[in-house]
Amino acid sequence: MKKLIAGNWKMNCDLITARQLISAICNGIAGEPELLDRCEFVVCPPYVYIPPVIEVCAQHPASGVNCGAQNCSSHENGAYTGDVSVEMLRDNGCKYVIVGHSERRQHHKESNALVCKKAVMITNSEMAAIICVGESESQRDFGQAVQCVMEQLEKSVPKDGVNAENLVIAYEPIWAIGTGKTASSADIEEMHLAIRDKLKEMLADGANIRILYGGSVKAENAGEILNIANVDGALIGGASLQAAGFLAIARSVQ
Ligand code: PEP
Repeated sequence: MKKLIAGNWKMNCDLITARQLISAICNGIAGEPELLDRCEFVVCPPYVYIPPVIEVCAQHPASGVNCGAQNCSSHENGAYTGDVSVEMLRDNGCKYVIVGHSERRQHHKESNALVCKKAVMITNSEMAAIICVGESESQRDFGQAVQCVMEQLEKSVPKDGVNAENLVIAYEPIWAIGTGKTASSADIEEMHLAIRDKLKEMLADGANIRILYGGSVKAENAGEILNIANVDGALIGGASLQAAGFLAIARSVQ
């Protein structure tokens, strides 16, 4: 299975820097096509930069970079001011949608049930859902990390209609996001194995669903993290905002 290298640009860039960033990523991959033997790429810009990012990707078909969104509405259409529907994302060429990122769970009070509802809508719209799960620092300190993540999986992963084509799990310990801290290799291995076992229990295709690690992944630590068992890629925030750093992470996949 190729590793999925996913960039979450969060609420960063302007139109010019978004175009420059995606152009540099596409050109970098075109100049190093062997990266595509081991990795697939997706970038998730803010909603308004999805069309220009997709336009640049279309100019570089050999790079194979896909575009995703960072969120979607839980409503199909109608009077939901400020929302963006899954159909709008699909219509614009998105292939992935991140749901349940801890920043949305925390700042927008998104529940597991809401995450599950969005994931169903995404997969029904022929895109892949990247469902984020992860424990807080206090949950880890109290030895509740695995239990917390298992509960999130049970409640936020749809029971039907999902498979390795349309579902990705991203394990992101909340305390590691944007902090420069990363979980130890032993903790990552333990959690990813627990997630794998849970996915196998829940879903017929559970053995094949990608499990990404996220939380301060950068060029310096990617080699170690991406080569841990059951780590099938990375969800990268800060380090995805520089093409060189983003591509260096992919280069560390063996
Ligand atoms: C993220 O936002 O999903 C993330 C992992 O961020 P960072 O890489 O900056 O920790």
